[in-house]
Amino acid sequence: MRYSAFQVLKNALTGNTGWKPVWRNPEPKKAYDVVIVGGGGHGLATAYYLAKTYGVQNIAVLEKGYLGGGNVGRNTTVVRANYLLDGNLEFYSKSLEMWETLSQELNYNVMLSQRGVLMLGHSDGQMEALARRGNANLATGDDAVLMGLDELRAFTPYLDFDNGRFPVKGGLLQRTGGTARHDAVAWGYARGADLHGVDLIQNCEVTGFRIENGAIKGVETSRGYIGAGKVGMAVAGRSSQLAEMAGMRLPIESHVLQAFVTEGLKPLINTVISFGMGHFYISQSDKGGLVYGGDIDGYNSYSQRGNLPMVEHVAEAGMALMPMLGRARQLRSWGGIMDMSMDGAPIIDTTPVDGLFLNGGWCYGGFKATPASGAAFAHLMATGQHADYAAKFRLNRFETGHLLDDEGTGPRPNRH
Ligand SMILES: Cc1cc2nc3c(=O)[nH]c(=O)nc-3n(C[C@H](O)[C@H](O)[C@H](O)COP(=O)(O)OP(=O)(O)OC[C@H]3O[C@@H](n4cnc5c(N)ncnc54)[C@H](O)[C@@H]3O)c2cc1C
Repeated sequence: MRYSAFQVLKNALTGNTGWKPVWRNPEPKKAYDVVIVGGGGHGLATAYYLAKTYGVQNIAVLEKGYLGGGNVGRNTTVVRANYLLDGNLEFYSKSLEMWETLSQELNYNVMLSQRGVLMLGHSDGQMEALARRGNANLATGDDAVLMGLDELRAFTPYLDFDNGRFPVKGGLLQRTGGTARHDAVAWGYARGADLHGVDLIQNCEVTGFRIENGAIKGVETSRGYIGAGKVGMAVAGRSSQLAEMAGMRLPIESHVLQAFVTEGLKPLINTVISFGMGHFYISQSDKGGLVYGGDIDGYNSYSQRGNLPMVEHVAEAGMALMPMLGRARQLRSWGGIMDMSMDGAPIIDTTPVDGLFLNGGWCYGGFKATPASGAAFAHLMATGQHADYAAKFRLNRFETGHLLDDEGTGPRPNRH
């Protein structure tokens, strides 16, 4: 069914009895041309573009839990293209361009809200770094506005500009950045993939790979063996575990990242703001909750829940920026498992096993990457060629030293 104003009206008049399930719930077949492991944003988007753009007919997405139960439904929904380095610049620029038409593409409202993303500067050195970043964004064709103090006081009057330790000096605003509704992205891609014939198989955990003479033959799963011509891994925080089943060791560590939301408040925060003197960022959801987060918990874990020291750290950073936050009651917090790569940038590449492909290392920035990642991974799996906008996300950069360390923090996954 194509969603439209007409359908909404028709169903309103007929007791909403005409809506159909958004995707089928098929039994797995014995074999597929392509199997994607992981029903998160990246896996679902890859399946969608493989079917739609490249006409691949016989595809399955295998998800060990339920669709969207991973990071795609746990993130803080920030979408932006204000990176610094070649490689990241063109990729996130492409992704933001795709976000702008994604609701139309999927015929599903992903609620993109281009309310802007503001990075704050608290010292002259930071303001210079922000100017450099803004120039890189402008040179890529993206927007960037360097704001001085007066302009910023008018734009975000509720910040504590004169905080004795971290006075705010200015900021870099990307007006086209903002937020999108995370679970709608999972559902929209799932629906789109299903409409193109992709089998979405939930409660199906991949437990091993069958590899013969260096080539992939299929996957062992909790629901039996499934043959496959090609297999794409898109399991985010579980990337290292899955790759190990294929005999590979990845330059990726898994860490927990938490997020928090307050009770619903009247409209207060007009943009997405990131603090420059600590890892803290905040926006306001359409329901009024203040959504915020900060650093990863800082040690390796496969647990999807966070710990109290980071709650305290994030709350302190928030209070330094907006002391009024102390009056808001926190409603919920949760965690997701991050696939932190050694340089903070992702991997979209082939592997030493013929027919086995890798999509991972998204750290805590993979939601904004979803459209371009799906398109680039589908391109690679269908054609064997790297998409030009994702050409630098190679696995061998960790051998050759061509790292994409946007944060400039060195080979420290816990710092990216
Ligand atoms: C708290 C938090 C805040 C974040 N904020 C942002 C943000 O504001 N902006 C941004 O850009 N990014 C953000 N991120 C990062 C972003 O959510 C992730 O980088 C991105 O969602 C990862 O890709 P994915 O959607 O495919 O992952 P997931 O949704 O995690 O998908 C992977 C799937 O693989 C499945 N899987 C794992 N192992 C197996 C197996 N063996 N067999 C079958 N299936 C398996 C999992 O169950 C899961 O559903 C945040 C993440 C978190 C946790």
